[in-house]
Amino acid sequence: MGRGDGGAGGEAREIREILERAAEGGRISPEEALLIYTRAPLHALGGAADTVRRRRYPDGIATYIIDRNINYTNVCVTACRFCAFFRAPKHEEGWVRDVDDLVTKCGEAVELGATQIMLQGGHHPEFGIEWYEQTFSAIKAAYPQLTLHSLGASEVMHISRTSGITVEQAIVRLRDAGLDSFAGAGAEILTERPRRAIAPLKEPGHVWLSVMETAHRLGVESTVTFMMGTGETNAERIEHLRMIREVQDRTGGFRSFIPWTYQPENNHLGGRTQATTLEYLRLVAVARLFFDNIAHLQGSWLTTGKEVGQLTLHMGADDLGSVMLEENVVSAAGARHRTNRSELISLIRTAGRIPAQRDTLYRHLVVHRDPTLDPVDDRVASHFSSTALPLVSTT
Ligand code: SF4
Repeated sequence: MGRGDGGAGGEAREIREILERAAEGGRISPEEALLIYTRAPLHALGGAADTVRRRRYPDGIATYIIDRNINYTNVCVTACRFCAFFRAPKHEEGWVRDVDDLVTKCGEAVELGATQIMLQGGHHPEFGIEWYEQTFSAIKAAYPQLTLHSLGASEVMHISRTSGITVEQAIVRLRDAGLDSFAGAGAEILTERPRRAIAPLKEPGHVWLSVMETAHRLGVESTVTFMMGTGETNAERIEHLRMIREVQDRTGGFRSFIPWTYQPENNHLGGRTQATTLEYLRLVAVARLFFDNIAHLQGSWLTTGKEVGQLTLHMGADDLGSVMLEENVVSAAGARHRTNRSELISLIRTAGRIPAQRDTLYRHLVVHRDPTLDPVDDRVASHFSSTALPLVSTT
């Protein structure tokens, strides 16, 4: 027996009506989102999401970015159970990169055409606001053209604690030192129960959102992510979306929503990724339909594989994220997929879209309309180690 007094036929009608309304740009409720997430036929769900994507981006362009994720330390006091990257203070495998090293890495990225740097690190107990100010200032002085899309709400909370300043003061000082945009990392899942289960020492989801809301108010926009598959229920997945949409209604500061799947290796949480490929694709589609107030939707090739990443472009996504010249955090937990610029362009093109390199603000830098003019540079490829790009300094 289906929902309501109309039985299965009534539910099918209800689902059709919700999909039609969402495809036309109407707002759907969290309850409706849960219904279509769990019950709508896959093709109807993807079709509705793709209708929204086509209306938002009638030029048929789907984007990618060249950036480098640079980690400044793996020392962290927050000890998230899903994290395979961090080491506790005083652990023999803990490390810190000095500012010169970070600036050098930024220079390598610039040489390969990167426009964005994502600085991420553990919550080092001795890193206060001054360390971040000096680092950002040094990078901006050397490479003013680079966009620092870095840190996130969790780092802001940590900095405000270690420095004895307010969240607002921390954001203003980071911004004034050169931070352009906050990364959406650290959102994980914002819903209270599963968040506490996987990251008991991290700030609660509503606090993460309130930091982002403050940042948006101070002129620092961000993205927002979702790590799905750690054991959350379907309702908790939709609640994560609801919490984000509510803040976005007030600020408009989330540029993009980026869902990806939990990687279970080398961490304390272990287990397996409790989100199937289909669940991931359905979530992407529901996100496109639910977020009538977020412009962009990014599919993940890093955690789900290139083909699934490509499929997201048919489920509402308009962006495949970064080439990732360097990535150490998610790969430490088992993400094995790699790509390069040529392949990303090809994935987008064979999905029926026109590929374009974008910047952090989603402005098109190069539109690859003619395949014979595609850039060829084998070095613009993913590396999963801190010693990436061995060729750069010798050329
Ligand atoms: S996810 Fe971030 S905050 Fe959590 S343990 Fe890893 S480095 Fe620390």
